[in-house]
Amino acid sequence: MNYPRLDIYVNQIEENANKLQKELAMKGIKLTAVVKGFAGDLNIFKAYQRAGIKSIADSRIENIIKFRETGYQDEIMMLRIPMPSEINEIVPYIDSSLVTEARTAELFSREAAAAGKEIDLIVMVDIGDRREGILAEKLIELARVIESLEAVNLKGIGTNLGCFAGIIPDKNNTEKLITIKKDLENQLDRKLDILSAGNTATLRLLEQNSLASEITNLRIGEAILLGTDIINERLIAGLNHYNFRLQAEIVELKEKPSNPEGEMAFGGAGRGQIIEDKGLRKRAILAVGKQDIDYHGLYPQLEGVEVLGASSDHLITDITGVSKKLKVGDILTFKINYSAMLGAMTSHYVTKKYIK
Ligand SMILES: *Cc1c(COP(=O)(O)O)cnc(C)c1O
Repeated sequence: MNYPRLDIYVNQIEENANKLQKELAMKGIKLTAVVKGFAGDLNIFKAYQRAGIKSIADSRIENIIKFRETGYQDEIMMLRIPMPSEINEIVPYIDSSLVTEARTAELFSREAAAAGKEIDLIVMVDIGDRREGILAEKLIELARVIESLEAVNLKGIGTNLGCFAGIIPDKNNTEKLITIKKDLENQLDRKLDILSAGNTATLRLLEQNSLASEITNLRIGEAILLGTDIINERLIAGLNHYNFRLQAEIVELKEKPSNPEGEMAFGGAGRGQIIEDKGLRKRAILAVGKQDIDYHGLYPQLEGVEVLGASSDHLITDITGVSKKLKVGDILTFKINYSAMLGAMTSHYVTKKYIK
């Protein structure tokens, strides 16, 4: 088996998907499983199928096509605001998309009409996180454009919090979202089916039993894959945690002064930072780097290992605090966060091992 290696606990992911789907269904909420985190891996995708997931969302057309080619016929949502240049290619494969631009909606309508189908659109509203989303006061204008188009249906509105500014979903901004939907319904003089309130960060409202009954849909990625919520840096109770583990091999083991030596340049990785002088330290270099993972998201399982940094192909660790005797060729294991998982799944240098 080659290293670096990612051990993927597919059954634990399946359990998480199944459990969340049931829990949300009891509240009348449809779960859309966000699968963008695993780069279209079909072994993991099949775990979602076994869990009974009937609605998925991805942001990359390559993955979406792969899923359809397995024979999957249930719902696929385009998660990222699509590029105008990819709309004609993506229309045959998807049922719905998030949108924020009239131009995108118009292209969807044109391409869907040409393909003889209809695409459901959910307009994303920015209620504070400042990533994608139209501001509430501009919503009606876009809604009217969509209503006037031929082959698209305005299904509802959604929002995304937590991912850019780190704004936490709470009672206050949920109520704001509900009001925005009601106002829009009044202006259009009809009801809208979907209020897609958010992502994993929104689950904290579910746990506090304060998720508003108006919410009809949640788009959940991280909670299923890792059982964690990066926004609040917490483990979600009742789910399986850290279902991806990275294994990497030690290629150098030396005692070195913690302090760099020589004139220090600025502008590169780690350069210009002040490094505390800790004297002679035991350093282990592992054969994994920025091409494979986000090193900020590695949590060593062996006590006493400290991650210092990484370059393209090297992970630099301080192992002075490790009581066990390590040698070159030993393997260290890391729990990983969402960002490190994204990298590891995308890097073809990382071997994947599926553990049932
Ligand atoms: C990634 C993403 C999600 C899922 O977020 P998680 O925190 O992984 O649950 C939901 N909605 C949108 C628009 C996303 O881009």
